[in-house]
Amino acid sequence: MNTKNDRATWLKGEDARCSMPPKFTQQSFRFVLLGAPGVGKGTQAELLCERFHTCHLSTGDVFRMAKCLAESERTPAMQTALGHMRRGELVPDGTVLDLISERARCLRCHGGFLLDGFPRTVKQAEALDALLEREKVALTAVVNYELPLGQIVERLAGRRTCADCKAVFHVATLPPLNDGVCDHCGGQLVQREDDRPESIRVRMAAYEASTSPLAEFYRRKNLLVSITADGSPQEIFERTLALLPITQSGRRQRQETNEDGQQPKEYHECRSGI
Ligand code: AMP
Repeated sequence: MNTKNDRATWLKGEDARCSMPPKFTQQSFRFVLLGAPGVGKGTQAELLCERFHTCHLSTGDVFRMAKCLAESERTPAMQTALGHMRRGELVPDGTVLDLISERARCLRCHGGFLLDGFPRTVKQAEALDALLEREKVALTAVVNYELPLGQIVERLAGRRTCADCKAVFHVATLPPLNDGVCDHCGGQLVQREDDRPESIRVRMAAYEASTSPLAEFYRRKNLLVSITADGSPQEIFERTLALLPITQSGRRQRQETNEDGQQPKEYHECRSGI
């Protein structure tokens, strides 16, 4: 029996219903994940979702899902969005925000959420704030993964994804047992269109210009937790857990701030000890 939620409401829109109801928990966690493409956000997202029972809401997955539809089934806005995606560009804010509004049910879901790939611009972050306020829910934390550019390009260019089950491999650091074949389902391993060198360059420029200011946006709101994304996935995960403002009992810790919105000294010391 498949015990994994199919995230149908998120992937297909509000009219679709998820295959499983959210797990009953005392508290709902609501995270935003930030970080340039290639920092390993996807892996951390899975680990965090498992730990906090949150639903993995990736806007990239919604676009990739739409790519699998027949052209006649795609809306004109989605068709244009896929063109941007293919070129490694960001999809226009208006299109992305329509897509999120159509999925507001996922934001208020009792199971909580982990947003991955959204928001990507300050305009999107402001719109998310308004949506969350309307739904009367608040973010628990914004987790920001950081890594030097050279390491990011190396990771992305070697990444291979299973065309069927979406499992991720790497030609150097996580090769499949048989070249080009998925270890899990035997599917064909492909390079994502936006992981090709020409697209990587465009994506990194888009990230620097539009997404980096988001870290500052959330730092000022005292929600930002910055993590060095170096080391094994498990090491990065443990580092993340140690820095999340959540108590043993699962409550969000109050984060003190200085007058200029900076985190307290002890918090910085904790980060530099990574
Ligand atoms: P990702 O899987 O998050 O790297 O997203 C893949 C591609 O989808 C990006 O390169 C963009 O073209 C598009 N995309 C996903 N999320 C957004 C967003 N929030 N704003 C603009 N474009 C997005």
